[in-house]
Amino acid sequence: MAATGRPHAVITGASSGIGAAFAARLAADGYDLTLVARRRDRLDGLAAKPAENGPRTVEVHVADLTDPGGLRSAEDLIAATPNLQLLVNNAGFAGYGPFTALNPAVASALIGVHVTAPTRLTRAALPAMTGRGHGAVINIASLLAFSGSLPPGPLPFGATYAAAKAYLVTFTCALAGELAATGVRVQACCPGPVATEFLHGTGIDPARLPITPMDPGDVVTASLTALDLGETVCIPGLGDPAAIEDYHAAARQLVQARGPALASRYLTTAVPHTQAEPPARRPTDHARPGKSPAPAG
Ligand code: NDP
Repeated sequence: MAATGRPHAVITGASSGIGAAFAARLAADGYDLTLVARRRDRLDGLAAKPAENGPRTVEVHVADLTDPGGLRSAEDLIAATPNLQLLVNNAGFAGYGPFTALNPAVASALIGVHVTAPTRLTRAALPAMTGRGHGAVINIASLLAFSGSLPPGPLPFGATYAAAKAYLVTFTCALAGELAATGVRVQACCPGPVATEFLHGTGIDPARLPITPMDPGDVVTASLTALDLGETVCIPGLGDPAAIEDYHAAARQLVQARGPALASRYLTTAVPHTQAEPPARRPTDHARPGKSPAPAG
């Protein structure tokens, strides 16, 4: 790939939705682009759009990121991209449904596209970025990353999806600590429902959602502004970012429980753990139905 002197961004899942919105915005901002996804016709259509603000190079890389060969090809491309300033790990799909009915192959694909691919592509991008002392990685997570204590309904059944997105948040936050002195920024962007093709094939009718989905362009505006603000976790619809610090503070409190002493309640087990009837669930174990927010993507 020839160097042009312009900054370069690689966007996965660029053939529609949030990824296509990133492509349009970054092209207008003066980036050369590499667009990654499986649907060549979509990518070629986007790449053929005339540049509005001066010359741009837009390249297309067709790859299935759940396929080992496809992932390796994207890693090689990223490692060889001159002046790579921004990697947007955005590709994904919902795979919603009760876990006990989830096709194991779909579970693997969810983990492949939302966990393995962003991890490996970030690993491929960072050495050159840290070597230059600037650059950024945006991982598109989801508000569902924070939904583990909420039951399904109205939230979708999506334990694997939510856990994969939670991985992205923890991965990004931990990486931000590692990279603090390097000049390279990382961000986990956590939108709620967004008006894209994401829900196609899930059986969920976007028109029947109790809330209006966000425009994908607004997600991009939030994410790029959050990079400038230095936010590691970007929640596009969250008014007061202090809630994110509260969340981190609660997590830090849990991490304090790492001494050698066993908590007293574990020393007084009253019933054998093999009993058929589990003990009654305490109110703090899980939020009660009816208290949950509207569906999040
Ligand atoms: P879209 O369905 O519009 O876009 C998904 C993109 O991912 C497409 O470009 C698709 O391209 C690509 N993709 C999917 N699977 C693969 C694969 N195996 N290999 C390569 N590319 C793949 O949905 P969104 O734009 O909404 O989704 C983008 C991201 O945003 C996802 O990670 C999603 O989890 C997240 N998100 C979405 C929300 C929503 O409500 N829409 C809310 C919160 C987060 P192709 O099919 O051509 O391969």
